[in-house]
Amino acid sequence: MSVFEELGLRRYLNAEDTYTSNGASCMPPEVYRAMEEISSAWVDLEDMQRKVGQALAQCTRNEAAYVTAGAASALTLCAAAAITQGDREAFLSLPDASRCPRDEVMVLAPQRNAYMRSIAASGAKLRWAGEPGTPLSLQVLEAAFTPRTAAVCYFVFHGASLCPSLEDVLLAARSRNVPVFVDAAAQLPPAENLWRFTEMGAALALFSGGKGLAGPQDSGLAVGEKLWVQRLQELGAPHEGLCRGSKVTRETLAGLYAAVKLFLSVPETQRLASLLEKCQLAQASMERCGFTDIRLLRKGPAGQDSPRVLGRPAGIGAQALRQALREDGLLVGYDAEENVLSFHPQMLTLAQTQEACRMLEYRILRGEET
Ligand SMILES: *Cc1c(COP(=O)(O)O)cnc(C)c1O
Repeated sequence: MSVFEELGLRRYLNAEDTYTSNGASCMPPEVYRAMEEISSAWVDLEDMQRKVGQALAQCTRNEAAYVTAGAASALTLCAAAAITQGDREAFLSLPDASRCPRDEVMVLAPQRNAYMRSIAASGAKLRWAGEPGTPLSLQVLEAAFTPRTAAVCYFVFHGASLCPSLEDVLLAARSRNVPVFVDAAAQLPPAENLWRFTEMGAALALFSGGKGLAGPQDSGLAVGEKLWVQRLQELGAPHEGLCRGSKVTRETLAGLYAAVKLFLSVPETQRLASLLEKCQLAQASMERCGFTDIRLLRKGPAGQDSPRVLGRPAGIGAQALRQALREDGLLVGYDAEENVLSFHPQMLTLAQTQEACRMLEYRILRGEET
């Protein structure tokens, strides 16, 4: 009996996005084979974390790298490292930050999102620049720095159109000697984002291991300056303290390393061609099903360079169809503003995309016959 049957689990095909609640991505065989291999013996976990970090730094063109238990965990750890400035005693008191002379992490209010609570979980106070939903000027951002500002966390996707560019924020922070951490959790592809933000001057860039990289879902990657990676190494699991609950296993380390190597082995043009091929299948399927307003978007739901197809079903509401497809075992997105379905094949193989298209056509065309 399969584990799906044994536990009564519904199988889904995920044509929505790399959402955690959907299970994000499927790990390719190279990844779980690496996890299986490392699992057959014991290693010194700290030694492995350092060596995997060095190898990941080299292949992502960064000075240093560190593997976390996800991008959210990386946010907590970065905030802790920033407010404690390498002071071990102060770190061991967290989330009580009373020993930290600089205990604020600046966030941009238009970028407000749920992951900011992961920064606050360290004990850092969130210092808001600007107001949610309103354009934030560079002047207002500059005025929000205080002597207690230990770092800035910049989210690449959320509220992008309302915020100063990352370049400007980096300049403003640099002139005050404040590090900038860039949350780019879902910003892959393109692969060049793995080095782009740090080349621009970010202290660290943070990625989710289980989204675009298709590594273990409980992994994350922090890349950037040696000083900051060293602090993460000193403070992160398996060491005691705030981050002990965010541990990273040797299987996760090996899996993420394999996933990054695999991701970087595919030329960007080939990755895009393969994504477009899958989009064409979805587009043809929507056409056969009589969808209207079918169009190709170049960006995924999180702003990553991953194309998807939008379309409005005929004879059934987009939301109702989405629910029906979910019951059939196919997850697709819904854009409330435009009232359209979104089919995003980033997570699917070609064969899975074909199956997803068959499910869509079966649901719509069978409905017409009866
Ligand atoms: C998904 C996401 C995270 C969390 O990543 P995990 O690896 O699931 O912890 C953090 N920030 C942003 C912007 C995200 O999209």
